[in-house]
Amino acid sequence: MEFIMKSAPARKAVEATLENIKKRIPAYGELADRFGPLFLLKASLCEALVKEPLVLPEVVASKISAEVPLLAGEDMSVWTKEFVEIADKMFPILAESLKLDKKTQDILHEYLADPDNVLGLAQARIDGNWKHFENTSKQLGISPDHALLYISENVCTPVFSAIAELLGKSLSLHSWEQGNCPVCGSSPSISQLSPVEVTDLDNLVSGGGKKFLHCSLCGHDWRFKRNACAACGNDENESREIFYVDDVKHERIDVCHKCGTYCLSIDMRECDVIPQLDVAQIGLIHLDIYAHNNKLRPITPTIWNSLD
Ligand SMILES: [Zn+2]
Ligand SMILES: [Zn+2]
Repeated sequence: MEFIMKSAPARKAVEATLENIKKRIPAYGELADRFGPLFLLKASLCEALVKEPLVLPEVVASKISAEVPLLAGEDMSVWTKEFVEIADKMFPILAESLKLDKKTQDILHEYLADPDNVLGLAQARIDGNWKHFENTSKQLGISPDHALLYISENVCTPVFSAIAELLGKSLSLHSWEQGNCPVCGSSPSISQLSPVEVTDLDNLVSGGGKKFLHCSLCGHDWRFKRNACAACGNDENESREIFYVDDVKHERIDVCHKCGTYCLSIDMRECDVIPQLDVAQIGLIHLDIYAHNNKLRPITPTIWNSLD
């Protein structure tokens, strides 16, 4: 497994990507402004956690070779303090981004004030216990349906991202050929063809162009076969296709007609500014709309490809 070193600090990359989207596609400016503060806060929280003495799961070779992600089956309670602090700091910005009504805000604010509830949400997310979100939303009587899951994922992200950043390199020593994340087990939201790498002295290190999938939850990037569908592994040329708009060939969707899914993709070799891949998705919604109109399913449902 190969590993991409992230060159710019996350917060700087988030800022640059938001600015770039607003400049290039003014129609997405409103979304960039609405969700920008959330992305910036997540990046800051992750950067702070990387510097703290964070409890790290052990990279167990036998687990990885059995195709079990690092965090699968782990007890989330070792990070209760972090989750609770993040939930407290993040909730006002989440409520604003999601445009939650006052009643829902009050209910959720009270619910998240109990550390056991916050821990329960994080544990349910890593265990893939989707029923927990459904049942809890029903019990609390909140809407929209996806709010609780979205909030929980955002609260988990800084901790999981920090773990991915701290352990990515040791993880990269092990082979991992799956289409889901070796850190947290989530599916990818976007892929990239890696950028050209040069040293300080302008010596070429790598011509780039290697395919990496980007985790929809923790943001870890892991190497994947270039000519295969990340959802089903299909590598036949006849049933896979690429779509892009006009001349913007480096921003595209990889379509698999065998399983009916698509995945966003950016060729970093063609980017003037290397985008932060979570934020970059705001600038690619026209590709999601195209895919939706062509009856394709996103490899991972996200707030961007599910917006009406
Ligand atoms: Zn992940
Ligand atoms: Zn497929």
